[in-house]
Amino acid sequence: MTIAERIGTLEKKIAQLAVRYQRNPCAIHLLAVSKGQSACSITQAFTAGLSHFGESYVQEALPKIKALENLPLTWHFIGAIQSNKARAIAQHFSWVHSVNSLTIAQKLNAERQDSQLPLNICIQINIDNEASKSGIPAHLAAAFTKSILDLPKLRLRGLMVIPKPQKNDKQQYHTFLQVAYLLEELNSQYHLNLDTLSMGMSDDFAPAIEAGSTFIRIGRAIFGERIQHEH
Ligand SMILES: *Cc1c(COP(=O)(O)O)cnc(C)c1O
Repeated sequence: MTIAERIGTLEKKIAQLAVRYQRNPCAIHLLAVSKGQSACSITQAFTAGLSHFGESYVQEALPKIKALENLPLTWHFIGAIQSNKARAIAQHFSWVHSVNSLTIAQKLNAERQDSQLPLNICIQINIDNEASKSGIPAHLAAAFTKSILDLPKLRLRGLMVIPKPQKNDKQQYHTFLQVAYLLEELNSQYHLNLDTLSMGMSDDFAPAIEAGSTFIRIGRAIFGERIQHEH
């Protein structure tokens, strides 16, 4: 299958899920995860209608962002953030989904240029409390949110999660639902209007959409298996 065909299949599936779960299809955005993919593949995905692209590695992303700067693309950083990369991330991306420490948030805030719009960010939540996973534990999310709201060059949009794989969609749905409830709690506690739930990947986007995802982050189901090595 070509990239355009995979995107067509995926969009049909998303439309069906929106009907099944009574979601507004316009509120479900497709973030094409292009790590390990060439600028040419990204251009094909753009031609097939996509404009949001996600990258996990700064060094790999920067040359692609440069090569494609004439296309109206929106770049999202979704990987682990090393503090020496905070400047490049703050200046070359429009969104960061993986904010998980105050030090990093402060660096991103300091490095975002005054001439740029505030950087859209999501707080990464460690919903399964896995020691090996990065992210803010759910019980610390409220305090963390409060600190983020003080940073003027960051625009907090919502929460991101990479849950551990469960046995079935129903259990995966319940994990995603916890994150959706957490977003509601933050909105009511701080009178906010956070509108973003970044949840769901190629293997679990259906239960993520059922639970209210607004950005599904899809790599393999768009581009096929990644060929280039990950770093
Ligand atoms: C790689 C990656 C994805 C995409 O994963 P696929 O299984 O290829 O859809 C989504 N989110 C994050 C954070 C990733 O690192």
